Amino acid sequence: MGYETDLQLFIDGAWKSGEGRDAHDVVNPVTADAIAQVPYATKADLEEALAAADRAWPEWSATDVEKRGAILRKAAAIMRERIDLIAATLTQEQGKILAEAKAEVLGSAQLFDWYAEEIKRDYGRTLVRPAGQLSRVIKQPVGPVATFTPWNFPIYLLAKKVAAALAAGCPVISRPPHETPGCATEMFRCLADAGIPKGVAQLVHGEANFISSTLIASRTIRKVSFTGSTNVGKHLMKLCADSMTRVTMELGGHAPVLIFDDCDLEKTLDMVVPQKFRNAGQVCVSPTRFYVQNGIYDAFLKGFTERTAKVKIGNGLEGDTRMGPLANARRPDAVGKLIEDATAKGARLLAGGERGEGGFFFQPTLLADVPNEAEIMNEEPFGPVAVSRPFDSFDEVIEQANRLPYGLAAFAFTENGRRANLIGDLVESGMVGINTFAISVADAPFGGVKDSGFGSEGGKEGLESYQVVKAIHQA
Ligand code: NAD
Repeated sequence: MGYETDLQLFIDGAWKSGEGRDAHDVVNPVTADAIAQVPYATKADLEEALAAADRAWPEWSATDVEKRGAILRKAAAIMRERIDLIAATLTQEQGKILAEAKAEVLGSAQLFDWYAEEIKRDYGRTLVRPAGQLSRVIKQPVGPVATFTPWNFPIYLLAKKVAAALAAGCPVISRPPHETPGCATEMFRCLADAGIPKGVAQLVHGEANFISSTLIASRTIRKVSFTGSTNVGKHLMKLCADSMTRVTMELGGHAPVLIFDDCDLEKTLDMVVPQKFRNAGQVCVSPTRFYVQNGIYDAFLKGFTERTAKVKIGNGLEGDTRMGPLANARRPDAVGKLIEDATAKGARLLAGGERGEGGFFFQPTLLADVPNEAEIMNEEPFGPVAVSRPFDSFDEVIEQANRLPYGLAAFAFTENGRRANLIGDLVESGMVGINTFAISVADAPFGGVKDSGFGSEGGKEGLESYQVVKAIHQA
């Protein structure tokens, strides 16, 4: 299967490429070979996109919600029709297996459908006042939005931002990651073919710093939504401070998984091992720190190791592959260094630990008895590595779960209802999954606390993040 996406920018309703723009390689992580070239936006392109968004805003924000919703629903339908093409592009650019790529396309289409409906039920309120007086609170679209998304879920994370912003009545200018430009191009093609008006949805490929600093410095952009690392998030927040631009920051995580001795261990292992190696561990809510109650720790390690040996790595386009390569050349080196550091500090390597053959492959890895001083216990591994430690008491494991500055997702496996409730209340994170990993869903807020950022995507909170409120008082 070849790479079929025609990589272009989409500005003011027109597809653009060539015309003197620099072209950069898109690399297949299975082979490390270039498979396409993507045109990079120029300063003139960004200025054109900003001017177009500025022009499009008044009309789009005033467009009837039924009409906005109909365009979003049509884009979702086209996305589903084109699932084979979009998923193949995703797998070839990013490495995840085709089944995961297809699930990502379907999840993205669902976000468009969900926000198309949610905006219809987005109400303001009136306040209690004496007869003849009126005080009301209304919500209005914040204005043109700049989105910056990462390569690990290049369609889904883009859809989370774009679907909510468009539903709320905001035009968007999106900068996708340079690793996965084709997924974003295909998504915007669905919007274009669904009839999105000129200037409402715009896509600019290119150099991250140049695009973010140019867009944020413009008074046109009223909101920035970023998903990526905590360091880049802090940098963008500083840029936004100068123009008082609102931000949503969905940043890194280091999810603890609390496994208690009353869980069904075999069932738990059947869930946690595939979840750990989904997308080769490059997931901001990936289960990472496994804290296992002492009585079942050895059985957990044995079961985890046996299941890990069966995870077949290879080209994600091939049917029996269970885990593809990492997405870019940076990741295998970074993951390898973290493992070396952990074993030097006393961790036991029970599975994997090495790069795979060719491309950017890395073996599924399990580390046991990892001390808190190891870098991997403090820094997001963002790769196929599970780290584990035993624990004795409830208080001890809650303290361990909360010891990092991150707070995105946390998971627990237990059959004890009271303990489950307490975990939900006490763990410092934006999302908690108890006996489940299904925490990224269209109708619930998704976002972090502490260094994992702030603001929510998904649910009605996701819509509100593209709105401002106004109180209107009439005597
Ligand atoms: P990075 O921090 O360099 O980049 C993260 C994303 O932000 C990329 O898509 C990148 O293109 C973009 N970016 C970088 N600089 C930018 C700028 N100045 N303006 C706008 N966008 C910018 O990280 P990376 O090397 O791609 O990944 C490394 C780490 O990032 C991972 O280990 C992980 O901790 C984190 N990460 C988190 C998520 C998430 O979903 N929260 C996703 C991807 C990466």
